[in-house]
Amino acid sequence: MHSVKIKLSAVLLISIAGVINAFSQSPLPDSPAIELKADHLLAKLSTEEKIRLIGGVDTFFTEAAPTIGLPRFRMADGPLGVRNWGPSTAYPAGIALAATWDTNLALRVGESLGYDARARGVHFLLGPGVNIYRSPRNGRNMEYFGEDPLLAGRIAVGYVRGVQSKGVSATVKHFAANNVETDRSAYNSVIDERTLNEIYLPAFEAAVKEGDAGAVMNSYNLINGEHATQNRVLNIDILKQRWGFKGILMSDWEATHDGVAAANAGLDLEMPGAKYMNAGTLLPALKSGVLSQAALDDKVRRILRTAIRFGWLDRDQYDLSIPLLSPASSKVALEEAEESITLLKNSGHVLPLNPADGHTYVVLGPNAAATGIQGGGSSRVGSFFVDSIVTGMSNAAGGQAKVYYLQGLPTTDRLFLDTKFDSGTCEVFAGDTTSGTPLRTESSVSQLRFWRENNSYPNDPPRAPGDRGRTYVWKMRYVPSFTGRYVLVSAEWNGDKSVVKLDGTEVFRQTPHEGSAIPLHQTISLRKGKPIEIDVEYFTPGTAPRFGLGLIAVDALFTPAEQKLIQSADAAVVAVGTNFMYESEGYDRSFGLPWGQDELIESVASLNPHTVVDVVAGGAVDAHAWIDRVSALTDSWFGGQSAGEALARVLFGQSPGGKLPMSWEREEQDNPTFNNFFETSGPDKKILYSEGLFYGYRYYTSKHKEPLFPFGFGLSYTTFEMSNLKLTQAADPEGRLLVDFDIRNTGNVRGSEVAQVYVGEPEASVPRPVKELKAFAKVDLAPGASQHVSLKLDRRAFSYYDVSKHDWKMDAGRFDITVGNSSEDNRLVGSVNMQP
Ligand code: BGC
Repeated sequence: MHSVKIKLSAVLLISIAGVINAFSQSPLPDSPAIELKADHLLAKLSTEEKIRLIGGVDTFFTEAAPTIGLPRFRMADGPLGVRNWGPSTAYPAGIALAATWDTNLALRVGESLGYDARARGVHFLLGPGVNIYRSPRNGRNMEYFGEDPLLAGRIAVGYVRGVQSKGVSATVKHFAANNVETDRSAYNSVIDERTLNEIYLPAFEAAVKEGDAGAVMNSYNLINGEHATQNRVLNIDILKQRWGFKGILMSDWEATHDGVAAANAGLDLEMPGAKYMNAGTLLPALKSGVLSQAALDDKVRRILRTAIRFGWLDRDQYDLSIPLLSPASSKVALEEAEESITLLKNSGHVLPLNPADGHTYVVLGPNAAATGIQGGGSSRVGSFFVDSIVTGMSNAAGGQAKVYYLQGLPTTDRLFLDTKFDSGTCEVFAGDTTSGTPLRTESSVSQLRFWRENNSYPNDPPRAPGDRGRTYVWKMRYVPSFTGRYVLVSAEWNGDKSVVKLDGTEVFRQTPHEGSAIPLHQTISLRKGKPIEIDVEYFTPGTAPRFGLGLIAVDALFTPAEQKLIQSADAAVVAVGTNFMYESEGYDRSFGLPWGQDELIESVASLNPHTVVDVVAGGAVDAHAWIDRVSALTDSWFGGQSAGEALARVLFGQSPGGKLPMSWEREEQDNPTFNNFFETSGPDKKILYSEGLFYGYRYYTSKHKEPLFPFGFGLSYTTFEMSNLKLTQAADPEGRLLVDFDIRNTGNVRGSEVAQVYVGEPEASVPRPVKELKAFAKVDLAPGASQHVSLKLDRRAFSYYDVSKHDWKMDAGRFDITVGNSSEDNRLVGSVNMQP
């Protein structure tokens, strides 16, 4: 695809690295000797033993085969730390790693993960996740490497090689086109062949072909009508045949639906257990010839080959010489967090802040003191320690500058507790109905607070057999104490449903869904003393309610004393964004920030002209309400265990080096998948990828529409100049075009820049995006220093996927080359006429 060659002196950010134990146990290349050994072991297994080996056991293990001395192999999530086996290093999110644009760092993060895995006896790390960021709404964007297939692929290759250099198999997931979490086992990704091959497969291809990944995980969704686990085109034709994958294709947990179909379509290992690919289904299929012995043998051979290649038959995977709390890994996690921080706005150079004596800073917002800056689901790692933004800033100020913390917004729990209704009634009905005689009625209800942060509900009272749950009808009256804006919030357990009406008009409707209880919210205007009527109809399949509703006046967010503190501070840092409840697996998130956060930012910005917003999230959020009112915006993604320390270093002076790995839309509607993220009506659950290739920056640049912040964009505390573009054609298939240029740090502080090379084919024989990223280099320079950069573009860099040939094709003709520091930056431009 491309290869990056920077002269040695330009290889930056090769840090003195956290001295990860120097051992290298990369898998042996496959060889006739390995195949012979695998065949020898295979020949000793009975058919029943073979079938046993292709189903997992005890949730995170493969089965053992004692007759041939094969132990069981241990797995761990993945991808952002080694989960499942006690506390471990919690690295920043995948999208943060992509925001570093640093392939060398990706390698060291991988090494460090591999090292953590060996300390826990783990054979398979269930990562990296390489699905493409198509819309900010995907609940798992945070695990993945952004919107661009080339960037995602380069980061994935580094990660995989790093993990595997420690004798641990990476597991590239979720194969394939898994870009929506809602109802993830039912949705069908309907995607044309060219888009699939140009956008959604290349990161997998790179991880397999260049990274030599030992394992791949099939996703939950269907692709073009076929479950991933039984998708022959993807699993056999593409993965195993076209890409030559010789490792293990495992299912996602419970993503198998038909044992024989999956076995015939290339699935090698059903996880977490042999629910479908077991003796009961496969023995008759073998007998009748529906499944061939050769297909079964191929699966077992893949398991044996992988074990031999990785040395698992020759050594103990536990390496007790590695500390479980590894200072080396912690150092890498911190460096990753630091390098990922992306500065998006810095008016009047409000950043960096001055940590010197006499300065005061106020830090506030729901993510300021958060102790667990990670997304949710299977990637969430329990770490040994966590630096919040408050502790990070306070430590970095070192007792000189004063760092004050204000909560800014109450917790949702507290909001419900503090909302007092003037009067309220409740009727409780048996089952999902409001007809008949209520089981119970109550009057003088003054609170709606039956909800707990983190889903920790008291157990339901014992339920009689056949109990059909309860419907609660609350009629509440609220008398505002202020005139102005209020935020109305309601939340409930994810398995329940409700309708909330305000003065007779529906404002919220919740339906049961997988995942967490995410509050809904709306901003409303109220008049002091003028009552409003709130009607709630809520159903729970349990017997006790798990619901809450509250209101908060925007004008009452701060007391007068707090307002003074904010006003007198040199700057206010508002840490907003999501958390593990809002972004996770099994459901998607909204583009808007969680309740009260827009209003919080606006309130702080109206008090202090030096307001800095830090967004903690797995991707873009809606900033349109406040972006013009604040001085600075940083994106620190989900920074993991050292998120706070990393952000503090950047806020107090270290030049940020992150660049957006996705486009950041002004309004949600600007995203070309806005209307087709997934279909919500119709008989089938479809995700129509009707935007094709034209999503992200490919869409914005081709349609001449500016996003709020473009792909590849990120400010620095210094400035860079790029010059002397030289394009040289060569006969080398790996380097059809050499792109040479210089970068100079023209500012006063050290900093890093990412030079991005985009290719466009203006007169292509098929519709092509105006420009596509084909190479990049991250360069770290002292003030005044310059660096020559030399990048190679291979044939693939100029090609498109030709559906008539089912292969890549390069046209003869003109290609435009742009070099800049974002998809919108065309500072160096050149053209070449090329022959395929
Ligand atoms: C996730 C996978 C994960 C697996 C095991 C599934 O729900 O989709 O990414 O590896 O669980 O925890």
